[in-house]
Amino acid sequence: MRTTATTTNKLRKMQEQATVLVIDDERAMRDACCQALSRDGYKTETAEDAETGLQKARQKEPDVVLADLKMPGMGGMELLERIRDIDAHIVSIVITGYATIESAVEAMKRNAYDFLPKPFTPDHLRIVIRRALERRRLSIEREQLQQEKEIMKRNFVTLVSHQLRSPLTSVKQYFGVILGGYAGEVVSKQKQMIEKAGSYVDNLIQIIDDWLEISRIEAGNFAGRFEAIALAPILSDTLRLLKPSAEAKRVTLEMNSRDELPVVEGDPNSLKQAFANLINNGIKYNREGGMVIVSVGEEAHDLVVEVSDTGVGISEDDIPFIFDEFFRVKSKETRGISGTGLGLPIAQRIIEGHNGFIRVASEVDKGSTFSVFLPKTEVKQ
Ligand code: ADP
Repeated sequence: MRTTATTTNKLRKMQEQATVLVIDDERAMRDACCQALSRDGYKTETAEDAETGLQKARQKEPDVVLADLKMPGMGGMELLERIRDIDAHIVSIVITGYATIESAVEAMKRNAYDFLPKPFTPDHLRIVIRRALERRRLSIEREQLQQEKEIMKRNFVTLVSHQLRSPLTSVKQYFGVILGGYAGEVVSKQKQMIEKAGSYVDNLIQIIDDWLEISRIEAGNFAGRFEAIALAPILSDTLRLLKPSAEAKRVTLEMNSRDELPVVEGDPNSLKQAFANLINNGIKYNREGGMVIVSVGEEAHDLVVEVSDTGVGISEDDIPFIFDEFFRVKSKETRGISGTGLGLPIAQRIIEGHNGFIRVASEVDKGSTFSVFLPKTEVKQ
């Protein structure tokens, strides 16, 4: 979960001294704007064309951009959109000698907040800049509030999850006692019902555990415990643990790895958990008689672990969402397969916490390959 640190910094920097970037091909215009703005205590930066302007917008992190609409090379309209891509909180004001209603409307649509028709006075410029800075402050504060609300919501869910876990475990234990016949005779119909209720409780406990796991990872709880790890033994351990569920589904597990592989820096238990989630999915979403192949190789500066399965695959439409919390594909093939929709987000957060990333390739009815890239450390095993 992102914190509000970046937005807080932006706000503090702006309040200490706001930066205005003036992008105009006319030198006289740049100088006049800078003179008026410096007199009011603003920091100014200038660029004589859109390309340089974009570069400065990236380097100098301005609060406000004053941009000429008509410049040689990249036009002002494209410039406005690209500035928004750099930082949506930068407030853009367009300056132009051809102040037509149409160009003003077009500029507003492309992210301009205000419009300054040439010629303008220093006072007019000051008013517009002050308004733009107020707009920036509000926009950053709105994002901060949204982030805080999101954090509170997640903290609340985590708190409730903690509170729910032990009573649910007790319910499960009572079911065990009843099913064991310690509370009197249980007839077959009752047994079926209690077993069903038990599997619902199991699902709930699994969701809670997965959620608590996500919160633990987000709190960065594993980052301090990094050590040099060889991936091959981690993967063999994980495969051994998952062997019974693979056998139950008649899925064959296979591993390919070289002996001499570089190590990675990481937390062994978290990495085991990430790979277990991927391999377990390869088993769950497979067909009877299918395969899951885990292979480790190298690519440039990374170690790459591929988890390939011969399962149901994931459609192109679903792939963009599979790492979202609680997302589960609803189809004929996945019906009846239990899960929480948290396995992939957990794996992704763990891998990103190790400065790595996950890539997916999949074909419906053929299978999927999840590739995990982790930066290798130079020392050999
Ligand atoms: P779940 O607990 O539902 O398995 P995940 O977050 O691990 O949650 O995965 C999200 C969804 O992505 C799954 O519900 C499934 O539809 C799809 N998915 C994940 N891995 C695979 C796979 N190897 N093959 C096919 N579908 C998969």
